[in-house]
Amino acid sequence: MKVLVINCGSSSLKYQLIDMRDEQVLAKGLVERIGLDGAFLTHYPYNSAKKVFRQDIPDHKCAIGLVIDALTASGHGVISSMDEINAVGHRVVHGAEKFKSSVLVTEEMLATMEECVELAPLHNPPNIMGIRACQGLMPGVPQVGVFDTAFHQTMPAYAFLYGLPYEAYERYGIRKYGFHGTSHRYVAEIAASMIGRPKEDIRIITCHLGNGASVAAVKFGRSIDTSMGFTPLEGLVMGTRCGDIDPAIPAFLMKKTGMDSSAVDSYLNKKSGLLGISGVSSDLRDIEEAAMAGNERAQIAIDIFAYNVRKYIGAYVAAMGGVDAIVFTAGVGENSIVMRAKICSGLEYLGLTIDPVFNNVRGQAQEISSVGSRVRVFVIPTNEELVIARDTRDIVEHL
Ligand code: ADP
Repeated sequence: MKVLVINCGSSSLKYQLIDMRDEQVLAKGLVERIGLDGAFLTHYPYNSAKKVFRQDIPDHKCAIGLVIDALTASGHGVISSMDEINAVGHRVVHGAEKFKSSVLVTEEMLATMEECVELAPLHNPPNIMGIRACQGLMPGVPQVGVFDTAFHQTMPAYAFLYGLPYEAYERYGIRKYGFHGTSHRYVAEIAASMIGRPKEDIRIITCHLGNGASVAAVKFGRSIDTSMGFTPLEGLVMGTRCGDIDPAIPAFLMKKTGMDSSAVDSYLNKKSGLLGISGVSSDLRDIEEAAMAGNERAQIAIDIFAYNVRKYIGAYVAAMGGVDAIVFTAGVGENSIVMRAKICSGLEYLGLTIDPVFNNVRGQAQEISSVGSRVRVFVIPTNEELVIARDTRDIVEHL
């Protein structure tokens, strides 16, 4: 079976075509600037050099049409016709309480997804557009939705409810949902297999540290708490997002500066975090370089990031009554040797030490804890596309 995995953003679309017999990625790529000037597709076939196509791409349907053309073209194509695509798996950001696992796309499912739009106005509409576009272009090909929120649906009420009037939850659905669930689930499963014990026996803290960043407490295979909340703004200080702040700050900012609610939203989501603190960049590589050159605000941004992750680890050890393993994943978690060391320093009281030689690794699965460390620590590259493809196969196989 060949599964096309699609991840639609508002003006971008990422894709991978995976042959499920051996999980080989036949091609992957990215369409950027959909609906804007200067749109282009970058296509990476497994067996030949990358190709860039520049042309007007007014909408997601056109983008997916181009992707199919690139996949089937003679020369850089990897399949001979569209009929070889047996199923499509879509990443969907928000499934609210409606979707607790991946599901087959049906008209009823799409109607339920529409109901979730209010909770993710930026993310769910492009996901729905992507599904509709595939329905138009590949009629009859089964499609599956895989939700970022689904893995965290096992959180107990005392972890997902905020200290707001209960009606905020009942009437408006305001509660912690959590995100990056596909990634947390995947790396927790790999960690269990690297430890060689069933996931039902172990408590794992997974740290997904990329531009967006979140930590999850995975107790006996189930997410029982996570740092992102009602939206992906809560929790850790991120590339451009503020993370946890006093909830009185937005109203104070509006009064002081005259910003309206959407300006404050953008201030907290796009101008804050590592970028806002350092004034250098949202990219940790630039910040690490600036800090090395003596930039104090860059150094404090690094210190804040590490301190926040360490605090969440401490909180989740308490939430789970202990911890057996910690996993680092995503751009920062997989690549920043310095950040991992900084986060782990001060966790020796847990019986956790990392080995500087083992920690000298980027982008590959490796245990980095010292021999004899009671808590095992791993770097595990995430692979959300593979999880989406596997879930899609598992559902489609049983049709
Ligand atoms: P996204 O949330 O956009 O998927 P990624 O998981 O790709 O983000 O992570 C992107 C971030 O990873 C970059 O902004 C950068 O800060 C960080 N990163 C990538 N490589 C390195 C590296 N070698 N050293 C430090 N940070 C890195």
